Amino acid sequence: MTTRVVVLGAGYAGAGAIPKLESELGADAELTWISDTDYHLVLHEAHRVIRDPGVAEKITVPTEDIKSPSTTFVQGSVENVDVEERVVELADGEDVEYDYALVGIGSDTATYGIDGMGEHPLTLKSLEDAREIHDKVKEAAREATREDPATVVVGGAGLSGIQSTGEIAEFRDRHNAPIDIYLVEALPEIFPPGDSEIQGALRHRLEDRDIEILTDDPITAANEDSIEFDERDVLDYDVFLWTGGVTGPSELGEVDVDKEHNRLNAESNLQTADDRVFAVGDCAMVEQADDEVAPPTAQAAWQAADVAAENIARAIEGRRLKTWTYEDQGTLISVGETALAHEVQMNGFSSPVRTFNGTPAKVLKKGAAARWIAKITSWPTALQSWDAL
Ligand SMILES: Cc1cc2nc3c(=O)[nH]c(=O)nc-3n(C[C@H](O)[C@H](O)[C@H](O)COP(=O)(O)OP(=O)(O)OC[C@H]3O[C@@H](n4cnc5c(N)ncnc54)[C@H](O)[C@@H]3O)c2cc1C
Repeated sequence: MTTRVVVLGAGYAGAGAIPKLESELGADAELTWISDTDYHLVLHEAHRVIRDPGVAEKITVPTEDIKSPSTTFVQGSVENVDVEERVVELADGEDVEYDYALVGIGSDTATYGIDGMGEHPLTLKSLEDAREIHDKVKEAAREATREDPATVVVGGAGLSGIQSTGEIAEFRDRHNAPIDIYLVEALPEIFPPGDSEIQGALRHRLEDRDIEILTDDPITAANEDSIEFDERDVLDYDVFLWTGGVTGPSELGEVDVDKEHNRLNAESNLQTADDRVFAVGDCAMVEQADDEVAPPTAQAAWQAADVAAENIARAIEGRRLKTWTYEDQGTLISVGETALAHEVQMNGFSSPVRTFNGTPAKVLKKGAAARWIAKITSWPTALQSWDAL
């Protein structure tokens, strides 16, 4: 009898799992890949589009170039997964039945219940989002003058907030645009998951680019053209990008498995409370040692995708499932054209210098993204994207 396996999402989770499933599943399995876009977006480089929308083609890979001809691709928006009936419900009314499902549809931007945060700011989760941010920054700059510059605010100083701020600064400097840039963070320091060494190095790079950093004061409300803080005065803005954290996609709200904030709880073997449903990437809370969960990063998603795919094949065969432990390979983060590397692991070896920048950091950052594109396609395809990474 044929076993039907469906993979939802074409991010790091989905695009990583497809080639692995193709190699692991037996001939009697049928693989269907569903995503709302017919391309994989290298989301961890999407901020580059804010500076130059022309790079979009270089950070997207058609799903056709990732999957083999025997895998069916369905372009559609998942509305629900009915785990009782084992059916994926799509927005166009189509139902896709499955025996095993791997859910990897990413995340929404968390609003933490802050007044107006769901309505007013821009967010960055897709190519369209990145293009919209570019357009809005450009439009604000066009309407501004040296005497009355545009104010662009980025809220949330994690990986996406810091890197987006760097690209806005790059846009400003390349076009000599009259823009004041603010990076706002509720916690006492930027890049909260990092240690003081990388936090200090990032702060230095950002301030060097004339970016004003406001920390240690949470935003309490977002209005149409202003932001309110707990303590500071109201800040008027022309463009407000909010990157304050991840929450599960609203489409997973009705899925009947254990979850927190719409993120599916998964054990370290990537299986949810329903043994036919596996979850990987930002939409999952994957159990790790010491009551920790894996971080919502590209790095974690692409590591876990391989194990989840193998475990689906094992589950079909009734074999024991493997467990996955997140391996932190270090941090590579851009501030415009420059990059910072921190505690980077290369082939199991730690770099002798903990934190560094310059060409070595930039090449390592490009190399990490190229390695990912090569993994899901080929090195010649990856190298065509090199300039944009
Ligand atoms: C600007 C930015 C910079 C970042 N920088 C880094 C970094 O330097 N390092 C790092 O490790 N991480 C970084 N991240 C985080 C990283 O990109 C995410 O953790 C990663 O993308 C998660 O992978 P995923 O596959 O779970 O989700 P995603 O990559 O978001 O993919 C989700 C997929 O599901 C599809 N989808 C969504 N909803 C539906 C639906 N309802 N129906 C069908 N398909 C759907 C989407 O189109 C997409 O194909 C960054 C994120 C951003 C936004």
